[in-house]
Amino acid sequence: MAKLSRRFAGNAAGAFFVDTTCIDCDTCRVIAPASFAEANGQSYVHSQPATAEERHRALMALVACPVGAIGSSAKAAITPARAAFPERLAGGVHYCGYPSERSYGASSYLIVRPDGNVLVDSPRFTRPLVERIEALGGIRYMFLTHRDDVADHRAYARHFGCARILHEADLVAETRVVEHLVAGEDPVVLSSDLLVVPTPGHTRGSACLLYDEAFLFTGDHLAWDPASAALEAFRAYCWYDWQVQTHSMERLGAFRFTWVLPGHGRRVHLPAARMAAALARCIADMRATP
Ligand code: SF4
Repeated sequence: MAKLSRRFAGNAAGAFFVDTTCIDCDTCRVIAPASFAEANGQSYVHSQPATAEERHRALMALVACPVGAIGSSAKAAITPARAAFPERLAGGVHYCGYPSERSYGASSYLIVRPDGNVLVDSPRFTRPLVERIEALGGIRYMFLTHRDDVADHRAYARHFGCARILHEADLVAETRVVEHLVAGEDPVVLSSDLLVVPTPGHTRGSACLLYDEAFLFTGDHLAWDPASAALEAFRAYCWYDWQVQTHSMERLGAFRFTWVLPGHGRRVHLPAARMAAALARCIADMRATP
């Protein structure tokens, strides 16, 4: 719970504030950019919400914050903000909100589909989100992009009885309980609309999930950088092997997709040709980076 006594000095005057426990996960800035920005390695309220929609988005950020660093002294009904997650992005693809501190605020997604819903990486196991996922049809598969963003996977698997999918190279003590392992570097067909594309590099077992030949869930392999309007890989957060990650990025060029939906970093939707060009530029940047 955010504390007024820890209120960050840079907040704009008014009801909403961020305190100094912020871990700079970017969640509030994605959900409510009209109100939240970053300075000195933490978020702050740059502009108090002025409209009903901005207040709603600010409250969504408040309930989503993985460390409870956002507070408000205004009396506001929080139920609509809680009920706003998962938030539909396009088609059956939803952003779950409620990231976990255990995955450093990584984004997770829910694919609602007739043949069974897919949870991509793990949000916090929290009652409002669980009830909304139940109402959307539950979870059949839980795809884990890599070992770092698994958060509350045990609680989700227990509650929904879903089968977890992970690359075998990312089996560690925390993940050895998963039900289905993927091996090697060849793509693995899960169903006609779901393809696992192993992309080692960030970790040995990192993998992307391609849904409906449009939505690429990338974990920490690939993300959008709005500042440079470019796709990027995180050299400073490459835990396994940068050359291997570069090769994995090159192999992604064989696939058509129009969305990139990462764990960390920003998501983006581009026409297929522009996405392919952005990926080619990202690969060139990676090759030029030792
Ligand atoms: S969601 Fe919370 S922890 Fe994440 S950047 Fe915003 S205030 Fe900080």
